[in-house]
Amino acid sequence: MLRRFRPYLRYLRSNRATLTAAIFYGLLFGATNGLGLPLLIKYVFPVIFDRTGPHAMPMADVVLIAATVPMLFLLRAVSSFLNSYYTQLTGVRILEGVRLDFFRKLQVLPLSFLQRESSGDLLSRGIADSSQLQSTLTLIANDGVKQPMALLGALGFLVWQAFTTDGALTVLVCLAIVPLAVLPVHYVGKKVVHRARQVQDQLGDVSSQLNENLSAAREVRAFGLEARETERFGQATNLLIIAQMKVVKYAQALTPAIELISAVGIAATLIFAYYAGVKLETFLSIITALYLCYEPIKKLGYLNSELNRGVASLSRLEYVLDEPVTITDPAAPVSVTRLRGDIAFHDVTFAYGDSPALKQVSARIPAGTVCALVGPSGAGKSTFANLVPRFYEVAAGGVTIDGIDVRAMRLADLRRNIALVSQEPVLFNDTIFNNLLLGDVTASREAVLAAARNAHAHEFIEQLPQGYDTMVGERGALLSGGQKQRIAIARAFLRAAPILILDEATSALDSESEAAVQDALRHLVVGKTVLIIAHRFSTIRDASMILVFDQGKIVASGDHAALHAGNALYKALYDRQTAGK
Ligand code: ADP
Repeated sequence: MLRRFRPYLRYLRSNRATLTAAIFYGLLFGATNGLGLPLLIKYVFPVIFDRTGPHAMPMADVVLIAATVPMLFLLRAVSSFLNSYYTQLTGVRILEGVRLDFFRKLQVLPLSFLQRESSGDLLSRGIADSSQLQSTLTLIANDGVKQPMALLGALGFLVWQAFTTDGALTVLVCLAIVPLAVLPVHYVGKKVVHRARQVQDQLGDVSSQLNENLSAAREVRAFGLEARETERFGQATNLLIIAQMKVVKYAQALTPAIELISAVGIAATLIFAYYAGVKLETFLSIITALYLCYEPIKKLGYLNSELNRGVASLSRLEYVLDEPVTITDPAAPVSVTRLRGDIAFHDVTFAYGDSPALKQVSARIPAGTVCALVGPSGAGKSTFANLVPRFYEVAAGGVTIDGIDVRAMRLADLRRNIALVSQEPVLFNDTIFNNLLLGDVTASREAVLAAARNAHAHEFIEQLPQGYDTMVGERGALLSGGQKQRIAIARAFLRAAPILILDEATSALDSESEAAVQDALRHLVVGKTVLIIAHRFSTIRDASMILVFDQGKIVASGDHAALHAGNALYKALYDRQTAGK
């Protein structure tokens, strides 16, 4: 089982000194703990009680002998402290490594993976499972060294006594009981592993419900779902508690079981001691050593069940860490700087799951064209647009820009040539200025301000209390929809990429915002190849090219006049929209 953890020891590579210190003090602790006390009882204390006459020993000697006890415990205390300190340090460093790797992986995983998994559960894997792994690894580093050492020390003492003292038989009998104490450890370990996995899965469930609820706060209030949501959450936490208590049951039964077995061991030793005529100090030192044997077994037993929990968490983390990154840079990328933006789809087929979302789609959008994608919802417009920045990988066919397959370019090169304005732009909880800067992190302050002016965002930003330094709140919650859109447009201005993908907002903005957004967009599209997932007839009419989608296929293309005259689906869509206005 320990082998499962081996790959993670790489996180320790840069912290070898810390780990070495931890192990050294662990060994020291083990020796003082397992061997020290029995030695004192057997060889040091008897000097005090072995009186030939009253007060024959000088006072200084008596004090010196007595002082061996605190000295031993001082050594034990210091080594225990340093061992724990350094192992904790090792543990947090491992945790940091695992969390960073996990996060790094989330940055590159295909979008399809992130859409398939619940984000709350991923959150729980990143936080709860990695901290479970940390506590397991610290415990391994800690007790994994200390306890076997203590056990060896105590066992060593017992074996030594067996050969040097009368009543060796007694000792051997006592020893025979030690392996018995390992039985419950083995049993509990087997029980815990699969239950620990349940706990972590359930924790993921609780976390995903919490996450979902928080992101639907408005809907919950609007539809009066408060009680239903609370009940659902209550059910999830209840299942979590049940799973947790199962682990508690097994893990906590372990210590009493081992203690009971050790009590039987002591009783057996007493009986044999009586018949073998063992002296009291021999008996006491043996009992102490015996006790010191059980103590590490108890701790190792706990370690074993903790190890099983660690394995459960590890497999949940590895589920993400080992997920193949399917969309990667090619081995020999075509060097690309600035593309012109001549986009072509060649017989592209793509499916999210089983049924294809695009079926053998071919199209050519010459550089500098403003192309509107229209069609009923679910027809494949977004999918079409998402294949250009290679957010997904085509199943068959290919997408080229300027004649170069997107799979032949470095992802960073490809995406640097594309600006994206989504329907509901997401802002980071940072200042407006920094949010704008995301368009091009190397841009100067003047360039950022110019982009904001072009996007008609400058005016409203200036009116905010802290201007460009205003914090926008989580996901930009403190700004209106129209304001967020203008910030997204300003980002796209700043990016100055030759290709622009625009997912037009379906929700209506107030007319003033609407006019500002439309005007900003009109300026933004100039000189670029633009794909607009269009919902407004004004946008569609202005486009120089229109692709009509239906059920994963392009069923018609042309300009507005031609399509309105010649395509029934387009005419129906268009007339319905204009009628709704
Ligand atoms: P449109 O943009 O025209 O409304 P989409 O391109 O979003 O259509 O969707 C095309 C088809 O693919 C639809 O049947 C939709 O249900 C499906 N689809 C879209 N996104 C996903 C996804 N992330 N996972 C699975 N299926 C999806």
